[in-house]
Amino acid sequence: MVLLDGIATSAQIRKEIAAAVADLKAAGKKIPHLAAVLVGDNGASLTYVGAKVKACEDVGFRSTLIQKKADITEKELLEVVYDLNRNAEIDGYILQLPFPKHIDDQKILLAVDPAKDVDGFHPENVGRMALNLPCFLPATPAGILELIKRYEVKTEGKNCVVIGRSHIVGLPMSILMQRNDYPGNCTVTLTHSKTKDLRAICADADIIIAAIGKPGYVTADMVKDGAVVIDVGITRIPDPSKKSGFRISGDVKFDEVAPRCSFITPVPGGVGPMTIASLLLNTLSAVKNKA
Ligand code: NAD
Repeated sequence: MVLLDGIATSAQIRKEIAAAVADLKAAGKKIPHLAAVLVGDNGASLTYVGAKVKACEDVGFRSTLIQKKADITEKELLEVVYDLNRNAEIDGYILQLPFPKHIDDQKILLAVDPAKDVDGFHPENVGRMALNLPCFLPATPAGILELIKRYEVKTEGKNCVVIGRSHIVGLPMSILMQRNDYPGNCTVTLTHSKTKDLRAICADADIIIAAIGKPGYVTADMVKDGAVVIDVGITRIPDPSKKSGFRISGDVKFDEVAPRCSFITPVPGGVGPMTIASLLLNTLSAVKNKA
């Protein structure tokens, strides 16, 4: 069994990005600049955005955090997005979702300039992804592809079962794994909460990608010998023995599933660190696309 190590792989990617930034600097070219828009003061969102901003600084990017109060109106938030679209200094930006209930996330997303949509959530980027045209891929699926590539995991002709159909993970993952490309060329089954007999479907899978948000949902009896298992799930479970008061659990019962696998991602330390690395890669390519 080989552990798909997201910490080591993302560290290597960050090194490569830092070297690319140094080259840009030496050539007198523009340094990538990522902005993040955060509405309200939700603790988890602040942590996620903070990690992204810090990652930018670590590789030498510029970063700007735009934090707005929870009572900002939809119209005011749209103005923030239009300003970012017009601002030539900003190469790409992310909207930390979900926004408060009175704001229509989709309406704000549609206003984002697809050329600056480094989260890959705009319908134009989603459509281009489906057609295998150049685009920004959503960060978590892109991170999974990068892990698969760097560990040279074979995908052609394999049965791939994706569990979960969210717009940010499951659905794009299913599209990407069936593309005529590497990684890809799988026969994909996209499963969700209404799927019948998920166990039997998984038992025939060469590759399982679990993005459900239910700790330990994938058990050893669902996984065939030699399978590749990618665990996207991140759930905080209260744990008084930890300083933070919680531990992180994935969607896969790692201890019993890992011995059956050819490759598996740990949680934490698998897909999670790759997500931020992909966001940085997207921001770097936003600058290169302009050149
Ligand atoms: P989501 O809640 O939007 O979607 C969950 C999906 O799981 C839904 O499509 C639902 O149909 C499906 N589902 C629920 N119960 C099911 C069942 N019993 N059988 C089959 N399918 C079922 O979740 P999401 O945003 O895709 O996130 C999924 C998990 O991945 C969460 O734990 C989240 O925290 C994590 N996540 C991690 C990263 C990362 O960087 N590692 C990024 C995004 C999300």
